[in-house]
Amino acid sequence: MTAGEPLAPAGPPEFPVGPAEIELARKALPLGLCPECFGRLAGRRAHGLSNPERARRLAAALGPEPLPTPSGPCSLCRGLFDRWATWLPRATTAVEGTELHRFACGSRWDPEILAREETIWAQVGAPDGESARAAFNREWGKRLEGELHASGDPADPEVVLLADLPAGRVEVTLLPLYIQGRYRKLDRTLPQTRWPCRRCEGRGCTACQGTGKTYAESVEELVGAPFLAASGAEGTRFHGMGREDIDARMLGRGRPFVLELRRPRRRSLDVPALAAAAGAASGGRIEVLDARVATAGDVVRVKEASPEKSYRVGLLVGAPEAKIKDALALATSRAIAQRTPRRVAHRRSDLVRTRRIVAARVVEAAEGRYTLELRAEAGTYIKEWADGDDGRTEPNLAGLLGVPVTVEFLDVIEIHDGA
Ligand SMILES: [Zn+2]
Ligand SMILES: [Zn+2]
Repeated sequence: MTAGEPLAPAGPPEFPVGPAEIELARKALPLGLCPECFGRLAGRRAHGLSNPERARRLAAALGPEPLPTPSGPCSLCRGLFDRWATWLPRATTAVEGTELHRFACGSRWDPEILAREETIWAQVGAPDGESARAAFNREWGKRLEGELHASGDPADPEVVLLADLPAGRVEVTLLPLYIQGRYRKLDRTLPQTRWPCRRCEGRGCTACQGTGKTYAESVEELVGAPFLAASGAEGTRFHGMGREDIDARMLGRGRPFVLELRRPRRRSLDVPALAAAAGAASGGRIEVLDARVATAGDVVRVKEASPEKSYRVGLLVGAPEAKIKDALALATSRAIAQRTPRRVAHRRSDLVRTRRIVAARVVEAAEGRYTLELRAEAGTYIKEWADGDDGRTEPNLAGLLGVPVTVEFLDVIEIHDGA
């Protein structure tokens, strides 16, 4: 625009009609299409027009006669685009009682209708046609926004609404709600995740007193219980940044985790209060720190991290402190070759892994009883490094000392994840 030129008032959108459009309209006229389907034959031309308006302009190009109304239902969509009054209540019913702010939507089609559309496009020559499915999905999303008072957000939905057109119902997928935090475990009898009974594989038997579980409780269940109740979710998955042995405590700032709540009904949760409630209800067995809402991406981050960890390990060993200090100096000066311990061989492949004890020192010494602090690479088996695991870890502390070593206890005191 040049300076001084007056602003042109915004007129109706341009829809130039040339010989190609007249040809298209002439061929489409006898097909018995509703105005929505007729206009959609040129649906990717002229933004801002509705399809019935496109249909009107196409028909006007043929002459003064108005567009004939088909006698029966539209030969393509069978009246689908007139049935919002049926589909919207179906959606409302399907998400009843579900808190929802962002949704994605789509539709499932009878392949015959889609094939019929292909045939019509080929018949009339419609290079700018918009498919019925794309048009339906767009309208469906627009109308759902109004109906559900939520935003269409295909990139980050909480709920997906799929209109199953042949079945005449709306399928709802509730996406998980993720909570991240760090847990401290102050108990030596608690597995990280729910541990199904080996005998009955979770169905319940006499060995597990019908619980289906080897251990009555787990960090997953203790952390998850208040979140499960508050969200109305159907279950949990627990993603830890690694895991400690059942009989090892998890101290320091705790271990990062993401709790996945499956099919939640409510999403606006008081996360810090629920985290505190989980700790309180556990009777001092666990604590949850830094709890906040997370994303699916945080699950990947937590699962893929391999941070160094620090441990405190209590040992029974009949050797003087000076000799132990020499052995620790040797142990930290070279890599260790660690074959998968026998105790985890049932769930880990039998490999030899190279790991490093990064730092080691004696923090308590009395009467053949020592407490060490160690820092090691992710995936180092500390108990096996101490007692040697019958030569499966080399070098090992017992081997370096030339006397047997018994592990009395093991605690993880820090996960060095950089947070
Ligand atoms: Zn139609
Ligand atoms: Zn059982």
